[in-house]
Amino acid sequence: MITFVGAGPGAEDLITVRGQRLLKNADIVVYAGSLVNPGLLDLCREDCRIYNSAKMTLEEVMEVMTAGERAGKNIVRLHTGDPCLYGAIREQMDELDKECIPYDVCPGVSSFCGAAAALNAEYTLPGVSQSVVITRMAGRTPVPERESIRSFAAHQATMVIFLSTGMLQELSAELISGGYRKDAPAAIVYKATWPEEKVLRCTVGTLAETAERENVTKTALIVVGDILDSEYERSKLYDPSFTTGFRKASSDGGGDVR
Ligand code: SAH
Repeated sequence: MITFVGAGPGAEDLITVRGQRLLKNADIVVYAGSLVNPGLLDLCREDCRIYNSAKMTLEEVMEVMTAGERAGKNIVRLHTGDPCLYGAIREQMDELDKECIPYDVCPGVSSFCGAAAALNAEYTLPGVSQSVVITRMAGRTPVPERESIRSFAAHQATMVIFLSTGMLQELSAELISGGYRKDAPAAIVYKATWPEEKVLRCTVGTLAETAERENVTKTALIVVGDILDSEYERSKLYDPSFTTGFRKASSDGGGDVR
């Protein structure tokens, strides 16, 4: 059996209980060595064979996994954060489908959640933003034009931008041309949940200089939006005058949550 497992954002104890069990039972682990905390591999048995996919091609990864599967081994493909974001799992699944090899996915804590924790942030503040745009600048992987940073910025929703730490000047320009104020709040979260985590609060206009000053060039997320610093409305869910499916309003005239 092959399981794609989310390793979590960095801290060794932020993998799920299920992911931990799968690692303990694995005969073969292929881990994304560029970002997965190597400390997680201490969970593996002594005789577990461990491969670092950062040094391998898709073909080599598939060879290890298909040969292992044919030999009846338990295989873990360990991806950083949650495998569903920028994990390149679809191409692996398609190859496994061709070989009629079954697989499963064990989710993980994505780094965008780790970054929110580091910031003590709520991405969806009532009256400020109720949406989170997860995106990236185009790099070697292109981004469709209709999904440009500029077009998303026009919504003024919370944005979490992956894989773009090397392009912060361009990112600022795109955000501003899309409608974000130069002084709108922003943050750079470097290695969220790792011991060396850095939380750098700044503005849309000062992203590049902030990263340069702190020597941050990779493994960071950029968070943009007024949720980082603004007035908001209280939630309806915990408002005493609102009745919910679980709680009656404490005063007459309470309405239902809309
Ligand atoms: N699947 C992963 C994302 C992989 S793409 C997830 O769910 O988090 C790799 C990018 O994710 C990095 O370039 C960086 O932008 C971001 N990233 C991954 N781990 C991070 C961390 N601990 N802190 C900040 N950014 C991180």
